[in-house]
Amino acid sequence: MSNTSFDAVIVGGGLAGLYALHRLRGLGFKVRVYEAGSGVGGTWFWNRYPGARCDVESMEYSYSFSNDLQQEWKWPERYGTQPEILRYINHVAERFDLMRDVQLDTRIVSAVFDEGANRWTLTTDKGETVTAPFCIMAAGNLSTPRVPDFKGLERFEGNWYHTGLWPKEGVDFTGQRVGVIGTGSSGVQMIPHIARQASHLHVFQRTANFSLPARNAPLDPEKEREHKATYVDRRRAAYDTPFGIAGYLPPTKSALEATPEERERAYEAKWAEGGSISFLYSFNDLLVNKEANDTASEFVRNKIRGIVKDPATAELLAPKDHPIGTKRLCLDTNYYETYNRANVTLVDARRAPIEEITTRGLRTRDAGYEFDSIVFATGFDAMTGALREIDVRGVGDEKLADKWAAGPRTYLGLMVAGFPNMFVITGPGSPGVKSQMILAIEQHTDWIAGCLEKMRAAGFARIEATEESETRWVEHVNAVADSTLYPLANSWYVGANIPGKPRVFMPYVGGVHTYTRKCNEIARKGYEGFALS
Ligand SMILES: Cc1cc2nc3c(=O)[nH]c(=O)nc-3n(C[C@H](O)[C@H](O)[C@H](O)COP(=O)(O)OP(=O)(O)OC[C@H]3O[C@@H](n4cnc5c(N)ncnc54)[C@H](O)[C@@H]3O)c2cc1C
Repeated sequence: MSNTSFDAVIVGGGLAGLYALHRLRGLGFKVRVYEAGSGVGGTWFWNRYPGARCDVESMEYSYSFSNDLQQEWKWPERYGTQPEILRYINHVAERFDLMRDVQLDTRIVSAVFDEGANRWTLTTDKGETVTAPFCIMAAGNLSTPRVPDFKGLERFEGNWYHTGLWPKEGVDFTGQRVGVIGTGSSGVQMIPHIARQASHLHVFQRTANFSLPARNAPLDPEKEREHKATYVDRRRAAYDTPFGIAGYLPPTKSALEATPEERERAYEAKWAEGGSISFLYSFNDLLVNKEANDTASEFVRNKIRGIVKDPATAELLAPKDHPIGTKRLCLDTNYYETYNRANVTLVDARRAPIEEITTRGLRTRDAGYEFDSIVFATGFDAMTGALREIDVRGVGDEKLADKWAAGPRTYLGLMVAGFPNMFVITGPGSPGVKSQMILAIEQHTDWIAGCLEKMRAAGFARIEATEESETRWVEHVNAVADSTLYPLANSWYVGANIPGKPRVFMPYVGGVHTYTRKCNEIARKGYEGFALS
């Protein structure tokens, strides 16, 4: 299968790649998806750690493109578990006959643009080459797992795992001494599960994260019926919201206008309801005014102090270095309660950093620990990792990794100047990771499909973001971020979890509503800011 040619090649077989395949096939395009994994599903294929679950409610976190699909699919719980979501994705792949155009177990290692022919040539890790006028990058924002380069990992005699590369057959930690490194979203979900199996669990925390109760439960049949009766309207309404999720009344009041009693009542109600957006919607200024945010942050810190019995552990778990909501807000089931178990110990890895992995465990600056298994819940090289791992070369053989050396630059998160005919789904500079991602994926893909359709009708062979529009967009993304509290946190939104990664605020936080309107307006104006030929 050498030198195969298609109308479009899609890199990645997650929710984005699969929808892009379906959408472009619908336009009559000959398309092929390349997926590095042995199955489709992306995030939900790789992240099989115990407790892995979606933070967005299952009725929302699903495709909207087929009303039959959304009416027929039954989600058992308020939030989907990883196995349920993967089952759903495989159902979609089968239902829409997608697998015949997906090549699994194949990693794209390079993508090179031929200026004369206006075609991309992609090379796989098997040495196969494939060409197409259009290259769609659906390689994921959280798809490049990162294991910190601790000295000595290779000599560890036990087993080690990364949450984002979890073995398909699962792991039984029964009776084991386990060390978990990292307390971000994956750690917060996984720790209560491992604690129930391990003989002893040590959790190494560098940064405390805010977590709210998920209040997961079986999906209420009455709520499901109601939701399905208004599904199409709800999906449409979601595009008009900041996070791409309908059903929450936008707050109108500042936290600082409310009395302390009113604030407490509001936060208590949201705490009882569960969910992160609902909590951040308590007042209208929690993400833009530090003083307002302090009231919400302190409320959650007090909750932690109330749940965790050992005051020193509670203080360590109570985040003090970032405003609530400025890092990915975790949702949990019994996370803080887990630290009341006699077999769980929290270790402050900021005060005494991990210095090396040893044959039997690890050593921090202060002490040595012995483990049967070590679990890295250390996250991903987010937003740019997957694309930087591919040798992408545009006009004049410019390398994308070089162009992005000081941080990613895109126009709308959709295209990169100098890389014609290459589209990115939910790329840096888009609101993707700050939204219900399936909605963002559908919005991006529909926009791209609309663009390709219009290009075909008008006889254009090439589209490219101009340098000027890209620069303006990057400035806008930064200006919007700077008007919020987001830049105050050392988060993966700014690449802070990767040593040496330039500190640039990558997502667009102006909201899905603003972004979608902007994209539509740009398309209506004949793709303003893009050069077509
Ligand atoms: C643990 C976890 C929990 C999450 N929870 C939520 C949530 O609650 N709500 C939400 O909205 N989002 C959540 N997300 C974000 C999630 O990534 C998106 O919702 C969504 O799954 C992204 O789909 P995608 O197709 O864009 O990317 P992915 O699912 O990451 O798929 C990308 C695919 O591309 C493949 N790939 C990458 N590079 C190459 C290459 N060079 N060649 C071939 N294949 C390649 C990868 O193997 C992967 O399968 C979560 C992410 C994680 C990691």
